[in-house]
Amino acid sequence: MYDLHTREQALTLVAQGHSLNSVSLRTGISRSAIREWQTRPESPKRVLGQAGPCPRCLPAPGVPADTASYSYLLGLYLGDGCISSHRSGGYYLRIACADAWPGLIDLCKNAITAVRPEDSVYVLQREGCVMVTSYGRHWPCLFPQHGPGKKHTRRIALEPWQQTIVDEHPWEFVRGLIHSDGCRNMNWTTRVVGGERKRYEYPRYWFTNVSDDIRRLYTDTLDRLGVEWKDCTRHGRPYNVSVARRASVALMDAHVGPKY
Ligand SMILES: [Zn+2]
Repeated sequence: MYDLHTREQALTLVAQGHSLNSVSLRTGISRSAIREWQTRPESPKRVLGQAGPCPRCLPAPGVPADTASYSYLLGLYLGDGCISSHRSGGYYLRIACADAWPGLIDLCKNAITAVRPEDSVYVLQREGCVMVTSYGRHWPCLFPQHGPGKKHTRRIALEPWQQTIVDEHPWEFVRGLIHSDGCRNMNWTTRVVGGERKRYEYPRYWFTNVSDDIRRLYTDTLDRLGVEWKDCTRHGRPYNVSVARRASVALMDAHVGPKY
């Protein structure tokens, strides 16, 4: 009656600590069906996240097949993602996406599925945002930047195989970073033309991240792409990177564009 994916979603929600009642309400699956899946020996819980090879460790070290999607997902993960372990031995990858941009939620889900077709993806509603979530055994293999504490409190460096992928797909990486921790907005200035003060608006891209390492990964990639950028300080600390020059904004517009 229910496919494996639906069962996995329901069981993952239960494993996260949601009550049978709330999972039943959310998924439309009866509580007794969920209880049965939890106890039946052939329950998919036993194989949840274990099925399928891993591009990094099984059967042999390699890279994800879809490197373009990986580059994008790496940008999302470094911007607004986290990995946490579960007592079952697996890991949750969670990417925060604002409610305001449904198109980006779909892009994020598609990227996760492209990188890990074996793992299910689901969306959990939070206040003002959703958590695009995937459970699997191998998320730390794919994102070795995983570690204790917040990303900005530890050193973040790409492994050589990741850097190779970013070099192959730099715009995907930049797009992922902007889609998670960036935005395109309008700035304005005034200029006096013919004795009259006129207001001019111009678009600008912002990237905001407290990790010096992650901002550096962003600006190093911009350098290779010929995009000019500037550090902007906040309370004396450089959190923001601005791209405002016309030619550079045009490049960003051609490859990234506004959120949607
Ligand atoms: Zn692995």
